[in-house]
Amino acid sequence: MKTTTRVAVIGGGVVGCSVLYHLTKLGWSDVMLLERSELTSGSTWHAAGGFHTLNGDTNMAALQGYTIKLYKELEEITGMSCGLHHVGGVTLAETQERFDMLKAERAKHRFMGLETEIVSPEEIRKIAPVTNIDGIVGGLYDPLDGHLDPSGTTHAYAKAARMGGATIETHCKVVETNQRHDGTWDVVTDKGTIHAEHVVNAGGLWAREVGAMAGIYFPLHPMEHQYIVTDEVPEIAGIIDAGGEHPHVMDPAGESYLRQEGRGLCIGFYEQPCKPWAVDGTPWNFGHELLPDDFDKIEDSIAFAYNRFPALERAGVKSVIHGPFTFAPDGNPLVGPVPGMRNYWSACAVMAGFSQGGGVGLMLAQWMVEGECERDTFAMDTARFGDWITPGYTRPKVIENYQKRFSIAYPNEELPAARPFRTTPMYDIFDGMGAVWGAQYGLEVPNYFASEGEPRYETPSFRRSNAFEATAREVKAVRENVGINEVHNFGKYLIKGEGARAWLDRIMAGRVPQPGRLSLTPMLSPKGRLIGDFTISCLSEEEFQLTASYGSQAYHMRWFLQNIDEGVSVENISDTRNGFQIAGPKAREVLQACTRQDISDMRFMDVRRMTVGMADCVVQRVSYTGDLGYEIYCDLPSQRSLWDNLWSVGQTHGMKPFGMRAMMSLRLDKFFGSWLSEFSPDYTAAETGLDRFISFRKDIDFVGRAAAEAERTTGAARQLCAFEVTAKDADVTAYEPIWHAGAVVGFCTSGGYSHHAQKSIALGLIPRDLAQDGLEVEIEILGKMRAARLITTPLFDADGARMRG
Ligand SMILES: Cc1cc2nc3c(=O)[nH]c(=O)nc-3n(C[C@H](O)[C@H](O)[C@H](O)COP(=O)(O)OP(=O)(O)OC[C@H]3O[C@@H](n4cnc5c(N)ncnc54)[C@H](O)[C@@H]3O)c2cc1C
Repeated sequence: MKTTTRVAVIGGGVVGCSVLYHLTKLGWSDVMLLERSELTSGSTWHAAGGFHTLNGDTNMAALQGYTIKLYKELEEITGMSCGLHHVGGVTLAETQERFDMLKAERAKHRFMGLETEIVSPEEIRKIAPVTNIDGIVGGLYDPLDGHLDPSGTTHAYAKAARMGGATIETHCKVVETNQRHDGTWDVVTDKGTIHAEHVVNAGGLWAREVGAMAGIYFPLHPMEHQYIVTDEVPEIAGIIDAGGEHPHVMDPAGESYLRQEGRGLCIGFYEQPCKPWAVDGTPWNFGHELLPDDFDKIEDSIAFAYNRFPALERAGVKSVIHGPFTFAPDGNPLVGPVPGMRNYWSACAVMAGFSQGGGVGLMLAQWMVEGECERDTFAMDTARFGDWITPGYTRPKVIENYQKRFSIAYPNEELPAARPFRTTPMYDIFDGMGAVWGAQYGLEVPNYFASEGEPRYETPSFRRSNAFEATAREVKAVRENVGINEVHNFGKYLIKGEGARAWLDRIMAGRVPQPGRLSLTPMLSPKGRLIGDFTISCLSEEEFQLTASYGSQAYHMRWFLQNIDEGVSVENISDTRNGFQIAGPKAREVLQACTRQDISDMRFMDVRRMTVGMADCVVQRVSYTGDLGYEIYCDLPSQRSLWDNLWSVGQTHGMKPFGMRAMMSLRLDKFFGSWLSEFSPDYTAAETGLDRFISFRKDIDFVGRAAAEAERTTGAARQLCAFEVTAKDADVTAYEPIWHAGAVVGFCTSGGYSHHAQKSIALGLIPRDLAQDGLEVEIEILGKMRAARLITTPLFDADGARMRG
């Protein structure tokens, strides 16, 4: 056995083998896979082998598309068969709401190059004749859907990897992973120790146990899952004898997926009475056995399926496959460098290995070999969960995710499991004021405040929800008087030390401000992609506060620590420093009444330490609402006293609390982008207009400089623009296609309703040469073409007089 390797991949399921193959494909041949038994000995061997592109997250859907197209390549390289059946698949909609969702998905597929099609019930009857179409409104057909042979495919990945130089060691159980001082790893196995530069955890069902060997908790949990294979079904046998194949049918109402298997059918369920498996850890002696059949928990699902697919009831059961596989709390994989670790990578929690395994392998290999991925991977990044996550949180979330696998995913939906979990000192006060809560990165945040008599629950919808009136009230309070909300939804970092300024100058593309001032800056990856959108506050020459997205804390801390300099300390103070933002024309009067310091000369983008009421605070004159506003930060123990003070003074100025829904409406008035919508690693600073904050004048080779300069020379090919949309009751949310002259020319990044201007607004990317004020386009919202016009004048305070005055 080899005793040194550049990469040790632990786990020979479909995911580990895909990672291994992609590493060799990108040029790393000194790589090794360690499998405790035979390849496929975890979830992989008993998978149903189905694959599809549909995924609520657009980047995940694109990676699923990549995975499916890869199988042909694998067959060509290896000469092995993956047992591919590209039979196509149709997802049924039994309600208009679900049909809306499918139409929205179809619209997104237009610019992703996926050839899906909306189909009528009659067409469904023709393409999938075992389906009873009673009550079906329509469906989405995807010609790429299909199934394969799980074992053959895994072995094809393995052969392709071997052909690229990789080694695979089976019957080799990893028992310890010990890190050396230089960051490399001793991977201890029952056959000896391997010295590896990098470790990849692709342990699947045992990923928790493999992670624990390095002291890492991976937030994933196995769930039991069952599918049934029938004896011959005459309708299917007839199709096969005529030289055809029956497509897959996903029936979300019945929480089932169905496909042809041999001359019969195979149907699996995501049942509501689902069961987590191996709560306290996966036994090492598990592997090639199945779980006992459990018809009780799928009884209702089977009854429903008999109605939808009557042929099933007449068919005998040939076999039942009941096995476990793992999920993360949101159902997406956990991929990438593990925050806080050196040279330790995750390829875990892949719940649909045959839809996602190729994309996961490609992204991880790009990350390891090239330093970054070609697209935004946040939806599957291990860093989307922080160190606050626990098994107690993961389990109920995983159960919820399994139960909602086939539910409609609404853009405004807040999922209830494992909540409330993390709260700020304001929770009970805001709750008493009618807060309707959302959750960000595990933390409760008010989305809006319901008045007496209004429901304390926002109806999930693709259209304007019942939060509309409350949001309008809050926007009005901000624009006419003064609004208050917490600054808990900012990630906050304290940067200290004699090297602090130099370090910030190197990792941030923008200008680092002088003491007492703020600046806005993009943070770029080496390839010039946006990896952060920060406000820097210079508190003193050796002390800076950074603020950015709350949900990206682990993502940003990982980058900071990977790129830290001597003489600099970075502390994540997101949960220890909190406070409020006050915004609106009366904000200055409120703040002045709460402090003895004269703030009349405090300019836009100034930062000062001041005592507000009794609390020592850092006060910044800036507001994401685009209005006159202040962010007032204090320590957590002072927060309630600060609130009492601001709130009691605010009453004489018409102060009202406002939530995230109002905030997202207010920012649209100024066309302000938001992190992971307009600003993400999918885009560059020049495309999104953030290049105006890049300091090309500073004499520093900041990260991403060469790429940003190159783009400055050529100009970005596309440009972020704002549109006024003639929407009816549904606004843009994200990824709706933008049509011009009969063709799709771009897509929306986000949008919503500007309550201040009473207009529906979309932000989106289109080719730069089209981006002219007044350009007439159409935006496809829920399958309807809506006329839209490119606008360049902000809807509020266009000259900035209020914000800066
Ligand atoms: C009933 C059922 C049906 C399914 N149907 C589908 C489907 O139709 N389509 C689809 O895409 N997905 C399906 N899945 C899910 C699919 O099986 C998983 O997504 C996939 O198998 C995950 O692969 P993996 O490589 O991550 O993990 P695993 O397959 O669990 O592989 C992990 C490997 O790591 C090895 N290992 C663990 N610890 C160590 C160690 N310490 N040392 C060495 N080796 C170690 C294990 O032996 C194992 O071989 C289904 C799952 C089930 C249970």
